[in-house]
Amino acid sequence: MAKKTGIKIFGVTKATCGDVKVAQAMLDAGCTGISDSRISNIKNMKKEGIITTFMQLRTPMISEIEEVVKYSDISLNTELKVIKKLSEEAVKQKKKHKIILMVEMGDLREGIPENNLDEMITKIKNFDGIEIYGIGMNLACFGGVVPTHEKIGKFLEIVEKNEKKHSLIFKMISA
Ligand SMILES: *Cc1c(COP(=O)(O)O)cnc(C)c1O
Repeated sequence: MAKKTGIKIFGVTKATCGDVKVAQAMLDAGCTGISDSRISNIKNMKKEGIITTFMQLRTPMISEIEEVVKYSDISLNTELKVIKKLSEEAVKQKKKHKIILMVEMGDLREGIPENNLDEMITKIKNFDGIEIYGIGMNLACFGGVVPTHEKIGKFLEIVEKNEKKHSLIFKMISA
């Protein structure tokens, strides 16, 4: 169903502690990549031979930066301090680390307040080790905010406004 509309799905393995059989079953069923909140799970799935795009589902801890750059292809981010560290580490590892910038849309779980987004993107564009790969938001989690057409419409406005302003294209839009 998703494929028909151009949507790609990342399978989330965190509730199975990154179980390799579950990850493989998700990929066999058509998932584009695998997401997990724990870098230790991602590291293990890689070691056990899962070959795919791995996404760290939450903002990395400073103490995990080296492993996040090493083992995950993409991470979700909300904090400039963390993104700067990711960039420094990626330069060290001769990589570009891809990030998804999470925008706060009312659920209050995570995210950059809309008012701070513009300035943050301006700063991140100067970070050599980072590719701003995408933009995302989440609803129906912590605050139970319902994903209505209106909410999604508002999010898309923010996406388009920032693409235009910063002459960039978010390759991944995640919601
Ligand atoms: C699951 C999840 C968390 C919590 O992950 P833990 O592994 O319990 O620390 C935090 N943020 C996001 C976005 C998540 O999906």
